[in-house]
Amino acid sequence: MRLLLVEDDVLLSSRLRGELEQAGFAVDVATDGVDAEFMGGSEPYDMVILDLGLPSRSGLEVLRHWREAGNPLPVLILTARDAWHEKVDGFKAGADDYLSKPFHTAELIARLQALLRRGIARPHGPLRVAGLELDEETQTAQVLATGERFDLTGVEFRLLRYLMRHPGQVLSKTRLAEHIYDFDAERDSNVLEVYINRLRRKLGREWIATRRGQGYVFSADPV
Ligand code: CA
Repeated sequence: MRLLLVEDDVLLSSRLRGELEQAGFAVDVATDGVDAEFMGGSEPYDMVILDLGLPSRSGLEVLRHWREAGNPLPVLILTARDAWHEKVDGFKAGADDYLSKPFHTAELIARLQALLRRGIARPHGPLRVAGLELDEETQTAQVLATGERFDLTGVEFRLLRYLMRHPGQVLSKTRLAEHIYDFDAERDSNVLEVYINRLRRKLGREWIATRRGQGYVFSADPV
């Protein structure tokens, strides 16, 4: 899990970073709003912890800009204690959860894990990458160049969504399996090949490349 931690309190962010890494997250830190907005818009994070009081651009503005740009990143906001209006404003701007300062890291981690379990990344519009569009509502994929639209099964949809959220990255079978199967399902990474091949038959072979011994890459050469 790759996580962006946006917090201008350096002591707090370095302590949190260590604890989150121990909990299995790969953590990048941003300390002001402008950097945070850029990083969240250009890197494929799985989720964001966003402090609202930030130098150079407020967390609320950052969140609004991401949502206006159609960025569906799951975002947990950190609010000042007793500032109920910040929570309301945060949810209106598109936050998925909040935590009031001060908090226990164990609660933060539990909330992040709950967001992951709920698959909270509700998109604010379809996901478009490299000429392919994925519609969450109808679970269909469309090749933009030809206008052809394809129905996807649940597993195909989750697999393609994860691939499209991480374009150009080599994704191992194990990592993909972790993201597409339900918690109680058998996570057999060999079955992945079957689903990858189904996606290729439907959409065309050019979208997903095989890296032998490593895994798969969506759109290795994004158009
Ligand atoms: Ca702050």
